[in-house]
Amino acid sequence: MAEKRDYYEVLEVERSAGEDEIRKAYKKLALKYHPDRNRDDPAAEAKFKEATEAYTVLSDGDKRANYDRFGHAGGAPGFDFQNAGMGDIFSHFQDMFSDFFGGMGGGGFGGQRRPERGQDTRVRTTLTLAEAMQGAKKEVQVRGAAPCDVCHGTGAKAGTQPKVCPTCGGRGQVTTQRGFIMFQTTCPTCHGQGRIIAEPCDACGGQRYVEKRRKVLVTFPAGVDGGQRLRVPGQGMPGLPGTEPGDLFVDVELEANAEFERDGFDIGTRRRVSFADAALGGSFSVALPDTTQVDVDYPAGTQPGTVLTVKGKGIPRLDRRGRGDVHVLVEVAVPEKLSRKARKLIEELREELSKGS
Ligand SMILES: [Zn+2]
Ligand SMILES: [Zn+2]
Repeated sequence: MAEKRDYYEVLEVERSAGEDEIRKAYKKLALKYHPDRNRDDPAAEAKFKEATEAYTVLSDGDKRANYDRFGHAGGAPGFDFQNAGMGDIFSHFQDMFSDFFGGMGGGGFGGQRRPERGQDTRVRTTLTLAEAMQGAKKEVQVRGAAPCDVCHGTGAKAGTQPKVCPTCGGRGQVTTQRGFIMFQTTCPTCHGQGRIIAEPCDACGGQRYVEKRRKVLVTFPAGVDGGQRLRVPGQGMPGLPGTEPGDLFVDVELEANAEFERDGFDIGTRRRVSFADAALGGSFSVALPDTTQVDVDYPAGTQPGTVLTVKGKGIPRLDRRGRGDVHVLVEVAVPEKLSRKARKLIEELREELSKGS
């Protein structure tokens, strides 16, 4: 493990920095590296934790004095992010910046985040253009921990129950004394869980969870596009007992379609008309991937390469405010083989047309 950086260095402040300066420095870093803004970026998360740890110590007069005297050797108790720290860190952070994040979408960082909730999981899924246009309910395969069927997630052998930890009395924390200073640390017997399993379940080895594939039914809204990410609350990894599971994030990819191209909420296609039709004008009907029919009129004298646009008949907008547009590129078919009669008529037509204009 890399050596722990100096807290002042982490926050980029002088050792003489005042409370306000420290607070501002942390705020800057915390906003930059916040996990909600850097999803699935372990480097940013590490920076966030590092800054938060530094701030927690340097913003507390006693802890700071202790740190100034003893450095990291003086101990920054309780920084066990795996077990106990992260929840505290988040609630701490939340108090400080509730204004900033109060309005952030989805409630991802709101009061719902509780200590030791399960981790988020990510999967990819591919939708056809028709599914994206109509919306779809689809099962996605998620690999991850699922509660053990045998012990029902208790981790204890059938017929036994987990016991309250005798070391910490179920609190998950123990108080130890070093010199004159009292430290709260994670209980070494139960690793902060407050319970111990005397006889572990055979199926999961007392882990309570087993690695499984499971299926999650995901609702994709009409209008969803490739490159977008859906959040399914509570379908991530399970947390410790009594806490919320993480969320499932589904990355959407769009399958290429031979006939249609999508651009945002607009959809484009090509259509061939005979040169007689192009000259005389007419209309045709386009069946979109979601099976809606769009009637397209074209005027007399339509030129090859003309793009006809039908407003509001394209892909449904996610905000349900109507649909995008349909664009049809007109190609003009020139006959390759002519019957004797057709040839004669076209020759007459050429003659006639050369007189005009
Ligand atoms: Zn089990
Ligand atoms: Zn314990």
